[in-house]
This record gives sequence, structure tokens and C-alpha cells, in this order.
Amino acid sequence: AKEQGGGRFAVFDETLFRNATMRLQLENALREALAHQDLEIYFQPIVRLSTGRLVGFEVLVRWHHPEYGFIPPSRFIPIAEEMGLVSEIDHYVLSSALATLARWHHLYPSSPPIWIAVNFSGQEFQTPGFARSIRNLLRTHGVRPEDLHIEITERVLLQRTQEAIEEITALERLGVPFYIDDFGTGYSSLSYLHRFNISGLKIDRSFVQNTPHSPSTQTLVRAIVAMAHALEIAVVVEGVETVEQMTLLRAMGCEYGQGYFFGRPLKEQEAEEWLAQGRH
Ligand code: C2E
Ligand code: CA
Ligand code: CA
Ligand code: CA
Repeated sequence: AKEQGGGRFAVFDETLFRNATMRLQLENALREALAHQDLEIYFQPIVRLSTGRLVGFEVLVRWHHPEYGFIPPSRFIPIAEEMGLVSEIDHYVLSSALATLARWHHLYPSSPPIWIAVNFSGQEFQTPGFARSIRNLLRTHGVRPEDLHIEITERVLLQRTQEAIEEITALERLGVPFYIDDFGTGYSSLSYLHRFNISGLKIDRSFVQNTPHSPSTQTLVRAIVAMAHALEIAVVVEGVETVEQMTLLRAMGCEYGQGYFFGRPLKEQEAEEWLAQGRH
């Protein structure tokens, strides 16, 4: 069993869902989980590397099925995408997280306020009116657009359907920052970096974890940081697990870090303790 955020242990058995019947059960279970709001959200700290202070949280969805146990998002998000259910999941995650953030801003004010980073699979960008629904949600919760960071992968920007371009452009105009997730693992066509107004890159943990032992990875990371900064794009490093990785990446000029070294994905209450302790 693999250890998960919040000190829980995965009991999910991959082989269980290999055949079609099991797949169908998983699909039904997912529909039910959504209907009963059984999905939970966790918050993983993001810190400024130069000070070590908390600047925000990435919001990560968690599903504990009463019978099947913990099912990781890497397992159910792709299925939800195929089922056309992922927009609903992302919307649920977003509105819960915005409600929490609004409460935190009120209870633990800081300057600048902490942000939340929310993952979007990209399907929602195909829906006209998506940007408007985000604007309405921000207004409802009284959260500023700059405090909601949207994480998407390179894949989403490369699809470039007319609908997606319009929705992304509308969100940019609203002032919602976009971050490219898993940077370096996708198609890596860099053309979208100047087509869209990207605020940040999240360098994938495969680079981060290789950095201390691999001179060629170091060269790559330095090149990514130089390019990003020339374009006024911030760099977040993901999957930082050791002090060695942290020190090296900080020295390379990466602004923000996330990973088990700083903190695992936390339950809302645990995340709130970070705020109460003034780590921001
Ligand atoms: P991601 O967006 O790249 O999220 C980071 C993943 O890395 C998370 O896995 C996190 O728990 C894990 N992680 C963080 N720090 C470390 C570290 O130091 N070492 C290691 N080994 N791993 C670390 P998680 O929560 O299992 O999520 C997996 C993926 O599922 C996410 O990757 C994201 O693509 C997707 N996902 C999660 N929540 C959502 C959601 O609400 N909506 C959508 N569309 N996708 C989501
Ligand atoms: Ca992410
Ligand atoms: Ca990532
Ligand atoms: Ca990912």
C-alpha cells in the first residue's frame, strides 16, 4: 500500500478494475460519489522558496469509497474524463475550495492574500459560458480573480478549439492567472507561451527529483527558468522531497516550491492550522 496525504493508506487494488464489469462499477460509484458529495478536497502547501513562507495551496481531490477504499485521482480522473463527468468534479472542487478560501481570507488575513491553485482537465473550456460561471462563483464567494490560479496542462492549450480560446481569453481578461502543469512532460511546443498570457510554469517532479544527480537535468531546468523569466512567467517546482533539491532549485531562481519536503496534501483543518500558526 502506498502512503497518501493525511497519513492514510491506499488499499485500492488496480487489478480489481481491469475488466469491464468492474469498470462499470467504478463508473456507477463515481456518479454516486458526485451525487452524494463524497469527494473530498485536500490542500497542499505552496511556499516562496526565498522565505519559506506559505503563499498558497494546490487543491487536490480525494475519493474514499466505503467499499473499494482510497481511489487515487490518477485512476478516476481519466475515467471521469471519458464519462464526461470531469467538469462536474472540477466545478465541485472549485466551489468548495472558493468557499474555504473566502473563510480563510476572513479569519487569517495576510498581504498579499494566499491563493488557491485548482486543476482543470480542459473539458470545461469547451463549454461556452465557462468563464462567466467562474466570474459568478468568484463574486458569490468574494474572492479576487488573482487569488484563483488555474492549472492546466500543455495538452489543453494545444487543442486550441475556438471555444477553448474564447473561454481562456475571457478568464485572462478577468485577471485569473494560468499555470502550465507538469511542464516539460507534454508536447512541449512552446508557441502557446506567447499566444496566451501564462502566469506560471509548474516544473514536473520528474525534473525536480533528478536535478541533484543529473547535470543535464540541471541544464534543462536552468534553461526553463531563464526562458520563463525572460517572458515574466513565474516558476513553481513540484515534488520537492529533500532539502538538497530545495536548495538547488532555489539557487537556480525558481520562485515557488511544492512537495512533501514542505508539506503533504492536508485536510482542510490541517491546512487551517498552518494559517493559524502564521506560516503565511
Ligand atoms: P498534479 O496536478 O500534478 O498534482 C500533484 C500530484 O503530486 C498530487 O498527486 C500530489 O499529491 C503529488 N505530490 C505532491 N508533492 C509530492 C512529492 O513531493 N512527491 C511525490 N511523489 N508526489 C507529490 P494526486 O493528488 O494523487 O493527484 C494526481 C493528479 O490528479 C494531479 O496531478 C492532477 O493531474 C489530478 N487531479 C487531482 N485533483 C484534481 C481535480 O480536482 N481536478 C482535476 N481535473 N484533476 C485533478
Ligand atoms: Ca496540478
Ligand atoms: Ca503537476
Ligand atoms: Ca498532472
